Amino acid sequence: MGAVSTSFPKPRIGVSACLLGEPLRYDGGHLRNEFLTQTLAPHVEWTPVCPESEVGMGTPREPVRLVDSGNGALRLRGVRSATDHTEAMRSWASCRVEELAGLGLHGYVLTKNSPSCGLFRVKVYPAAGGPVSRTGRGLFAGALTQHFPLLPVEEQGRLNDPRLRDNFIERVFVYQRWAALRDGPRAPSALVAFHTAHKLTLMAHAPTLYREAGRVVARAGAAGWDVIADEYGRVLMRAMERLTTARKHTNALQHAAGFLKDTLDAGDREELADAIERYRTGKAPFTAPLTLLRHHVRRSGGPEWLAAQTYLYPYPDSLSLEERWSG
Ligand code: SF4
Repeated sequence: MGAVSTSFPKPRIGVSACLLGEPLRYDGGHLRNEFLTQTLAPHVEWTPVCPESEVGMGTPREPVRLVDSGNGALRLRGVRSATDHTEAMRSWASCRVEELAGLGLHGYVLTKNSPSCGLFRVKVYPAAGGPVSRTGRGLFAGALTQHFPLLPVEEQGRLNDPRLRDNFIERVFVYQRWAALRDGPRAPSALVAFHTAHKLTLMAHAPTLYREAGRVVARAGAAGWDVIADEYGRVLMRAMERLTTARKHTNALQHAAGFLKDTLDAGDREELADAIERYRTGKAPFTAPLTLLRHHVRRSGGPEWLAAQTYLYPYPDSLSLEERWSG
């Protein structure tokens, strides 16, 4: 097991095309998102998709909305003409997600509130009048999440929240490594190494699921690779959806520091413990103990598993790591 890599292959991320500035909205406008186009763009490969223009609705076009047809089944209808686009969109979406599967996506960013792309709380209009509910999911977003249940998917609006943004970015890079593992040499030893390298990451998200994932790893030699890799992936991505907290980070940091006690002198040990405590009590950002930990692991060594921790370098530092840890 080598040291964790500090260079990152670019993940492939699907995106609602209007978020990259393509003028494909119903009115010919766009929703260019600065975080996606400025900060994230240099680190990823985009796969832009616009369901409404790709299905042939044209731009500009009549706006559409989700309508509850009475039995809970959602229809995609023109706002003025009530033209029903549901079947066309459903059949296009089922083909498009198959195509996307062939590209090997590692994440997806969708446009909020869209009856095609919206992920959460999209407006649903009752067919016969009455109150509008915010209970819908865009038709394409629904097909996407059904086809790729483990894929990290977010809306651009939620990426304004530093904790959700950090969580999404971290999940994308974890998912990318898991996909490489799944499609790799199919060796139980590779799964053991993967799980070991993600120990601190999982502890910082969901300690109980770290142990559950360990039980899957223990069965790696006894069951088929595809079954085990998928089962592990399900636990892994469920764990990664749980947000980190200062308490869980502190546990992970103290766990790491404990394995350096024989390689650090008393002064370095005290300095690291103090940095962790200052972070725990909100007096220092996470970068303080993390930077020290990186330094000691690089300089003093410590056990091999510690140098291999993805926790030390979860994603490229320029992707707002400062914000991540001070949040
Ligand atoms: S929200 Fe989706 S369907 Fe609407 S313009 Fe953007 S990409 Fe196209």
